[in-house]
Amino acid sequence: MIERIRELEAIARRLEPASAERDALIRPVLGYADEFLNTIDTRLTYVETEDKGIGIYESPISDTPVGIDALLAMVGEHVDRPGINPASGGHLGYIPGGGIFHSALGDYLADITNRYAGVFFASPGAVRMEHMLTRWMASIVGFPDTAAGNLTSGGSIANLIGVVTARDARQITTREIPRSVIYLTSHAHHSIDKAIRIAGLRECVIRHVPMDAGHRMDPGALDRMVTGDAAAGLRPFLVVASAGTTDVGAVDPLPAIGDIAERHQLWLHVDGAYGAFFALCDEGRKVLGGMDRADSIVMDPHKGLFLPYGSGAVLVKDTRAMQDAHFYVANYMQDTAASRDEASPADLSPELTKHFRGMRLWLPLKLLGVAPFRAALEEKLWLARYFRERLLETPGFEVGPPPDLSVVTFRYIPPKGDVAEFNQRLVQAIHADGRVFLSSSMIDDQFTIRLAVLAFRTHVSTIDLTLKIINEKVAELLRSQ
Ligand SMILES: *Cc1c(COP(=O)(O)O)cnc(C)c1O
Repeated sequence: MIERIRELEAIARRLEPASAERDALIRPVLGYADEFLNTIDTRLTYVETEDKGIGIYESPISDTPVGIDALLAMVGEHVDRPGINPASGGHLGYIPGGGIFHSALGDYLADITNRYAGVFFASPGAVRMEHMLTRWMASIVGFPDTAAGNLTSGGSIANLIGVVTARDARQITTREIPRSVIYLTSHAHHSIDKAIRIAGLRECVIRHVPMDAGHRMDPGALDRMVTGDAAAGLRPFLVVASAGTTDVGAVDPLPAIGDIAERHQLWLHVDGAYGAFFALCDEGRKVLGGMDRADSIVMDPHKGLFLPYGSGAVLVKDTRAMQDAHFYVANYMQDTAASRDEASPADLSPELTKHFRGMRLWLPLKLLGVAPFRAALEEKLWLARYFRERLLETPGFEVGPPPDLSVVTFRYIPPKGDVAEFNQRLVQAIHADGRVFLSSSMIDDQFTIRLAVLAFRTHVSTIDLTLKIINEKVAELLRSQ
């Protein structure tokens, strides 16, 4: 037996490289990352390849080790080339993400020490770090510091936690579901619909509240709907508002919605996955008033704080409600009961074991201070306005309303031919060029191009380049008409 154990140990020890081996691995990895960062300004934002990364399958998972240089070459060719390059400042589609360097250092440390951030007993320091971060977020949106918070993998899980908490806080049991009513607009993010379904609420009455011309929820219409539903014997219980919609960046009138929610005792969930962090800057706060009226709110550090993907957050004003919806007990966890100075993240979310994601947020905030984040956010607001103004000066463009946040919509009206088709071809031409990436949507049943500014590497030079590319492509398309 002991021989077998020794034999296995010899192989298993390969999992623990010695210092010199670590060094030999870390150098090429740092070299790859350095090369990536040093060339980020000239790398394409979008690359269409024939094979779409399929080459990664050519080296299947097996017992045979492969050297780091060969692996980095594979990553470079099959992973980091095809598709969207979200680290590029030219990423102006959907809602751009981040990827600040300092977070990578936090991830490195978190992965090496692998602190258990799910349970207070296991890592009180990691849990306090998470709570300090969510309390800081609470202060940004005007929540009291008694609010509970949880760092999630992203906005979708954060929205799910909000919806599940609302369901349980309002005691929407199976019997109540068919007469319980949820209110949202058709511009609410699809992760809300998903959350409603996963939470078992798909058989609730779902009301789409009409919007104003700027695609913001019409509070008068909401009030009338809720009043009518209550009078008809239904049970209105949840209203979902957006602090920055994905399509156009619209902020619903939160103070008015807050009043209605209070009057009718509705749970107000605010989806600020994209927009909430803009409240860090004065310019953003001008449109984001009323977030403090929410019962629960979602904000995505991997959007608004420029973190790498895998960082969302949800805050719930009533700690008890969040805990009641997610608390669990397990016999094998009995030791943890001894140490409950602070709530365990596992009691506030569907996750038990989770990535120590507090570290990738805490480290950059502490290393840099908040000022550069605040400045970058205000810069993005101005860049969106700058883009819109330049486009308004350019003949032929139909430009959407002034943005609440950092999304601008537009389309080109060609002198002849189908408008939607022209703009579809315009987007395709921009994608084929690849220097910047814009996306399109159907807004009011019209094919519309959108520019969303949120990548931390997007600066005024990026916007000037984007305008240049758009004009070039329009000219080419007109010539070929
Ligand atoms: C991105 C986004 C989401 C979903 O968040 P993920 O982090 O992608 O899961 C939800 N709501 C809004 C408004 C968003 O922009």
